[in-house]
Amino acid sequence: MDPDRPRRPLAVVDIDGVLADVGHRLHHLERRPKDWKGFFASARSDPPHPQGLALAAELAEDHDVVLLTGRPEHCRADTEAWMAEHGVAYDLLVMRPPGNRRAAAEVKVGLLGLLAADREVAVVVDDDPAVIAAAGTAGYRTRLAPWGRPAESLRQAQEVEGRT
Ligand SMILES: [Mg+2]
Repeated sequence: MDPDRPRRPLAVVDIDGVLADVGHRLHHLERRPKDWKGFFASARSDPPHPQGLALAAELAEDHDVVLLTGRPEHCRADTEAWMAEHGVAYDLLVMRPPGNRRAAAEVKVGLLGLLAADREVAVVVDDDPAVIAAAGTAGYRTRLAPWGRPAESLRQAQEVEGRT
């Protein structure tokens, strides 16, 4: 983040199902065994969710935007390139730490705590009701993004297998 800029509150925004439409790559998780490599490798070609891009742009007007995703660190370069391609303005990209296989809700609430220790977290936007519920219980203001409802295969990957 730019140290010369005034410290604005944070808007924490999820990527998959909020900004990026993952529908075209869910088939990688619906086969057995699941093809995690294929699932993540095709993230670079996700179509954007226009509502998500609009919301992120609106939030960026008076917040620093933190992208908080269950995607693993090895997806960082592709994720940054995708954000650049789709004109998403953000200040920080926080990803699932290497080797961490906890449920997305648990990982995200833990990472929110680190962010909140340093700066006000004004809102948390996610498409996953489990993440929204956990963040709400932890005292954060939340906003459920309803346009990218998680498919069962993705819910399983996020909340049970802790993969994304
Ligand atoms: Mg999501």
